[in-house]
Amino acid sequence: MNTTELTPDYLAIAEALTQHRDWKEALDSVIQVVRSVFIFDNLALYLFEKEHEPLTIAYARAVGRGQSAEADAAWGEETANEVMGKNSLVVHETARPVDGENRVDFPCLMGLPLRTSEGTIGALVFVRFGGPVYTPDHLQRGQYIATQISSLIDRKMLLEKIKALQDARRVIALQQEFIDTISHELRTPLGFIKGYSTTLLRKDTEWDEETRREFLTIIDEEADRLAELISNMLESARLQSNTLPMNFQPVRLDTVIRDTMFRSKARYNMDVNADLPSCSSVMADAVRIAQVIENLFSNASKYAPGTPVDIKLGESKKHITIYFSDHGPGIPAEHLPHLFDRFYRVPTQTFNTTGSGLGLFICKKIIEAHGGELNVESQMGKGTTFIISLPLVLGKEVHL
Ligand code: ADP
Repeated sequence: MNTTELTPDYLAIAEALTQHRDWKEALDSVIQVVRSVFIFDNLALYLFEKEHEPLTIAYARAVGRGQSAEADAAWGEETANEVMGKNSLVVHETARPVDGENRVDFPCLMGLPLRTSEGTIGALVFVRFGGPVYTPDHLQRGQYIATQISSLIDRKMLLEKIKALQDARRVIALQQEFIDTISHELRTPLGFIKGYSTTLLRKDTEWDEETRREFLTIIDEEADRLAELISNMLESARLQSNTLPMNFQPVRLDTVIRDTMFRSKARYNMDVNADLPSCSSVMADAVRIAQVIENLFSNASKYAPGTPVDIKLGESKKHITIYFSDHGPGIPAEHLPHLFDRFYRVPTQTFNTTGSGLGLFICKKIIEAHGGELNVESQMGKGTTFIISLPLVLGKEVHL
């Protein structure tokens, strides 16, 4: 090989390969370079996508005659399989077309194995319709191009492996964190239940009726908390994996809020100022939306006790927005970005309240499943507002 003569082309090919992160874009630019130094009409790349499966077409380009053959790259398949069988270069040449004959019926094929550190991973096939035949110099150039493309594919496979490993590590870390948190969360109420029931069962002590009732009430409340925690965890896991069924129907939000408000007012003994003009229907799961509103009431009663709640409803062309405000102590700004994270609780507010930090995570997921948004604004000393915005028309991303 006359390297002095070929070096500029070789360099240009190598350079084109390293310029792009995306391997198909890299191949596109290689083809631009290769075209000027190597005649061909079509090129196709066949790879083993999966072990023990037949070769599949991974990339095809037509640069000359036979453009239409690009999409249907079956023309090179036989040669590619032959290359794999022999694990070597394969050349097929036909007689040259004479005047009036269609060049596309006279393909000259060159198939080259793509070899990487993992072995032969596929084949590269060039076709020239109607010639010219491949000279030894052409074969050498073809081999060089195949080597460069092999290293590109090698790099692609390596990047895919790294990504798969990183994903697997992230999943393991998340699972571990989840297991640590749930075991901690479940242990607390279980500890109370076990402690108080063991105490009540002690044979050496007589408990008066009032103490017995007090202990049994604690056991009862902690059992409820445990049940709620387990159902919240299951729900959050199902929402995370998009397997919580939603029953979308035309729903009037003013009605849903009014119903939830009456129930919550009585349950939490709180004042509510509501401005709920009748609004258009939205496609929503009424039970899930009520669950979100109920959660906001429960949070207001826990974290802004003794203050009234204001609820407003607004409608624009595309959305219905619910503003849910309390007049409590507010949430420090540094905690706001994490408020909807799973298990997140504002450390300073958790002293006298029970909770798992799952409520707002679940609320956000439910609203997002409707194609909407849940946001929060808070001012220290003034209160907190949760803003739910639901689209009037369900977007494509919502699964009915
Ligand atoms: P939980 O109430 O079970 O702790 P949530 O996910 O419902 O969990 O809420 C997460 C955290 O957000 C709460 O622990 C609390 O610190 C904070 N928070 C929620 N609602 C309010 C509110 N209205 N005012 C102040 N802080 C709130």
